[in-house]
Amino acid sequence: REILLEVKNLKKYYPVHAGFFRRKIADVKAVDDISFTLRRGETFGLVGESGCGKSTAGRTITRLTDATDGVVNFNGENLANVNSKKLWEIRKDLQMVFQDPYASLNPKMMVGHLVDEPLRNYTRKSHKKLQAEVMNLLTKVGLREEDYYRYPHEFSGGQRQRIGIARALALQPKLIIADEPVSALDVSIQSQVLNLLKELQDEFHLTYLFIAHDLSVVKHMSDRIGVMYLGNMMEIGGSDSLYEEPLHPYTQSLISAIPQPDPRRKRERIVLQGDVPNPQNPPSGCVFHTRCPFAMDACKVIVPELKEVRPDHRVACLLYDEEVMKDKK
Ligand code: SF4
Ligand code: MG
Repeated sequence: REILLEVKNLKKYYPVHAGFFRRKIADVKAVDDISFTLRRGETFGLVGESGCGKSTAGRTITRLTDATDGVVNFNGENLANVNSKKLWEIRKDLQMVFQDPYASLNPKMMVGHLVDEPLRNYTRKSHKKLQAEVMNLLTKVGLREEDYYRYPHEFSGGQRQRIGIARALALQPKLIIADEPVSALDVSIQSQVLNLLKELQDEFHLTYLFIAHDLSVVKHMSDRIGVMYLGNMMEIGGSDSLYEEPLHPYTQSLISAIPQPDPRRKRERIVLQGDVPNPQNPPSGCVFHTRCPFAMDACKVIVPELKEVRPDHRVACLLYDEEVMKDKK
């Protein structure tokens, strides 16, 4: 399938200043050289603990914040360096759905106007036409036409996320970046919204970049998954391959923490020692070495590269590096 989004060596560093002269003393490497591709019509899941850089990656890709370095090819343009006019045009095809729909929806705006705002910005249509389109969108996301006249506070969290989704859909975008779209919702509501996203994907041929901390949610949604830790990409693979046979010790620990009702498929729990290190001062070598149960001396000095170990399944870990492992024996 055709590649819609190609992220290459994306970096987002935040300078840290200190002292009387506010001199720069360090960089927080929120996103440190990540690469991945998204094919048209697929869902790529980006997973990791909070603070791993996955949201920053999403915001940098959409240019809500500028990249420090790297390339973001979307639909034939490098988003990382297009001018603001071009960016405005491209945004039509690239929409975001956020974690907290209440914070991202203006409470003073009627639902109808929240949803038709992007249409008013990008198209010239009569009020009547817009209204008909919005009412159609509202029913597509499981709301009612009458909801057009109501305000965000009159809705539940799940319904508000449906409003946010309708708004993101209004311009028929090619790519939707959904950042923790269900993590603020009750568990009972989460699967409804996830299923809605899936139905809409089929109907509108959408491509999703799906960002979440919950690996079982990401697995449910994604064709392929990338696992991030401390700004780095640790593993990328097909959803089944990554979930059934995780290669990276960090991914293995995430999966072992998921409750597994089927006893035959139960895995030994891998509990990580310590906390995520301060991103201002990340560990040398493999950034995971301070917590990895399999860490070797080499892990403190060698930065593992993301390498293909199985078809369409890559991992950044020295356990799969023949040179390093030969020396160990
Ligand atoms: Fe663990 Fe070393 Fe692999 Fe990093 S490179 S995940 S520390 S074994
Ligand atoms: Mg986040």
